[in-house]
Amino acid sequence: ELRELNRLRREPNLSRDGTAIQLYANAESREDVAEAHALGATGIGLYRTEFLFLQRNELPDEEEQFHAYRDVVLGMSGRPVTIRTLDLGADKADRTGLALQDEPNPALGLRGIRLSLARPNLLENQLRALLRASGYGPLQILLPMVTRREELRQARHELARIARDLRSEGHEIADRIALGAMIEVPAAAISLSGFIGEADFLSIGTNDLIQYLLAADRNNDALGDLYTLLHPAVLRVLRDAIRLAKARRVPISICGEIAGDAAFAPLLLALGLEQFSLHPTTLLEVRRTIRHCDVPYLRSQAPALMRARDRGEIERWLEKQRGH
Ligand code: PEP
Ligand code: MG
Repeated sequence: ELRELNRLRREPNLSRDGTAIQLYANAESREDVAEAHALGATGIGLYRTEFLFLQRNELPDEEEQFHAYRDVVLGMSGRPVTIRTLDLGADKADRTGLALQDEPNPALGLRGIRLSLARPNLLENQLRALLRASGYGPLQILLPMVTRREELRQARHELARIARDLRSEGHEIADRIALGAMIEVPAAAISLSGFIGEADFLSIGTNDLIQYLLAADRNNDALGDLYTLLHPAVLRVLRDAIRLAKARRVPISICGEIAGDAAFAPLLLALGLEQFSLHPTTLLEVRRTIRHCDVPYLRSQAPALMRARDRGEIERWLEKQRGH
């Protein structure tokens, strides 16, 4: 079994019918990046920058961040890298004093792009570091917790201003840097048609999206199996976002944990997904499953999937696709 998986290290991400699927890696450390590279990941689809800010009392300055981001870009030797701006909030053990402490409801609080826009120096330092790293290889920037079109516009405005500053200071930065939004707040998913024109790419954060859609804490075991992808509302929101992005030719991926669960791969392919971003430890298993899938057939089964009325019916649909 392990040997069989290891053989897949050098295989391309192709389905049985020859559809090219992109398997990006989620990463938050140097080790993750090395592993992603070794496994033949298409690139880094989600680099979480929180770790740079946690377990310490002082904020990392521009220079430290620049070195960290440049190392990610260099570590992937030319494959595309997506780095997410800080997604800090009262839910994380932050000792820098950046996030508010003891928010009554951290998941609904000042986190992600909300915090970055509320702390202009924080955002400026991070964007400067990211733009400087863009001079070393393909890099794009992803914003977490986008809720409103204005947030994306404001961030883009800042990015353009900072790029001008850096160029006038003599830094070599990429000519154009793609700016994308996480789709993890239901309002963003539902109003996507109104701001998709502002995004160069999208990444669906199902960890949070499922939590918010089902009003079910992603970390609360007492909820049993309530927190799950296998709810008709979640499937509908994913289907609509993927469909719209494809119609508008905006690249879209899923970077939540479900993308790394091989059992769900047929379902995600049926919904039209072509880009997965997953933890490196799950990459080979998902690659193996995709190699057994017939993508056009699965897509033809999407209407039946969308008719499922509950978890049991969705599970029966999945069961039926075994071997397809
Ligand atoms: C998500 O919400 O799905 C996601 C990828 O981000 P995080 O797990 O860091 O909240
Ligand atoms: Mg999230």
